[in-house]
Amino acid sequence: MKKLIYVIICFSFIYCSKKENKCEDSELGVNCPDATFINESDSPYVLPWEIGKTFTIGQSNCTDGSHFIGGYNQFAYDVNMPIGTPIVAIRSGVVIRVVENFIDLEPGINDSALVDKANLIVIEHEDGTKADYLHLTLNGALKDVGDNVVQGEIIALSGNTGWTSGPHLHFQVSKCEDTDPRPNYTWFECESIPITFKNTKEHCHGLLELELMPDGYTAEKY
Ligand SMILES: [Zn+2]
Repeated sequence: MKKLIYVIICFSFIYCSKKENKCEDSELGVNCPDATFINESDSPYVLPWEIGKTFTIGQSNCTDGSHFIGGYNQFAYDVNMPIGTPIVAIRSGVVIRVVENFIDLEPGINDSALVDKANLIVIEHEDGTKADYLHLTLNGALKDVGDNVVQGEIIALSGNTGWTSGPHLHFQVSKCEDTDPRPNYTWFECESIPITFKNTKEHCHGLLELELMPDGYTAEKY
């Protein structure tokens, strides 16, 4: 009996230490060495797509692409998804900006001059942070300015407008005042912050790109 208890304690110890060190054990996806990502279980955010669906990340945080370290959108994510995919609110809040008059580009034009030609919806959360959802399809915002939205509610349809090389959703959470008068530049003066999601598998350094996580991330019930 004593032996059995000893074995059980040992096993639990190994299991628990393994779990606790899940991030330290791996350098996988450590693109932002100075960033602190909160534990998924403590996150106030959910993935921006419907429960049961799975998508891959085309560009993660702190990459050599357009989410480079030190840039205003270093903690943004690009999610590969076909035009017309329902986007859900990652957190409850109020819609503060909508643009939806631009036409989708086929197959997409990788030209920074189109940065202010993206359809978008911006939602302000109760703590003052703002979520930007970009590249929506033509008339793809399903909410109006002033609307209250609940976490997980469908708010928009993805698209391929603005500076894109293919259909995807760019989204980020920013923490600051919007001081830029240009209507489509809401995110430019705002620094993005590192975020995690409470309804998918562990991602202690943020969501990983397609090459490292080819199966992508499934939105689970929460
Ligand atoms: Zn992006």
